[in-house]
Amino acid sequence: MDRSLQEMIGHLKSFLEYLDEMGIETLPASGNPADPASCSLSAPSPRNLTLEEVRAELGDCRRCKLHQTRRNIVFGEGNPKARLMLIGEGPGFDEDIQGKPFVGKAGQLLTKILQAIHLQREEVYIANIIKCRPPQNRNPESDEIETCSPFLFKQIRAIRPQIICALGTFAAQTLLKTDAKITALRGRFYEREGIQLIPTFHPAFLLRNPDRKKEVWEDMKQITRWLLEHQDPYERGPEKS
Ligand code: SF4
Repeated sequence: MDRSLQEMIGHLKSFLEYLDEMGIETLPASGNPADPASCSLSAPSPRNLTLEEVRAELGDCRRCKLHQTRRNIVFGEGNPKARLMLIGEGPGFDEDIQGKPFVGKAGQLLTKILQAIHLQREEVYIANIIKCRPPQNRNPESDEIETCSPFLFKQIRAIRPQIICALGTFAAQTLLKTDAKITALRGRFYEREGIQLIPTFHPAFLLRNPDRKKEVWEDMKQITRWLLEHQDPYERGPEKS
């Protein structure tokens, strides 16, 4: 037998005797059979797709029953390197026609809310939990959310925002994996895999309940503060002496 092979077997034998003495009967398997990219929001990985690749993978999606009644898939739009991502529930009438998120009355209010914190729509990324309009604007059903949301998670991993603002109950519950109501969830940050997640009321809810705007304003101020405090120093411009 080759001398180096004999030495290797000797080392292995001593190592196994050492493990036996220590009472260790099994060793952890090397490598991770689970694919972290499939359940992670933010971790960079060679498997992370670009937004274009996620869109191509979605294709002319017919994975759930909502494809039967939609006019357009509403994929999402905005800055692919956005620090802030806003995620709503699903497309409504106007969004279904135009194929763009938040373009109806609720969308116009969202644009105003963003402008109030000195952000333009083009600076953020806007998407929804589901990408096709439910008939008569009914709530999304759990099988639809389950089928569609993996594409949203791929978008989040492509963008890797610093903050996600979940707009309304369905977005907050899906992203935080909870059944708690938006009234209990809103108004504070939750950290998920390095991303700050803050739920607030959906703009459509504000159109019906304008007296709740002040709470959303408080949430928006928290977002502004966080973004300012965590701004990249190289983006702040020259220091004044
Ligand atoms: S809602 Fe999502 S999963 Fe369902 S058909 Fe539309 S894109 Fe596909």
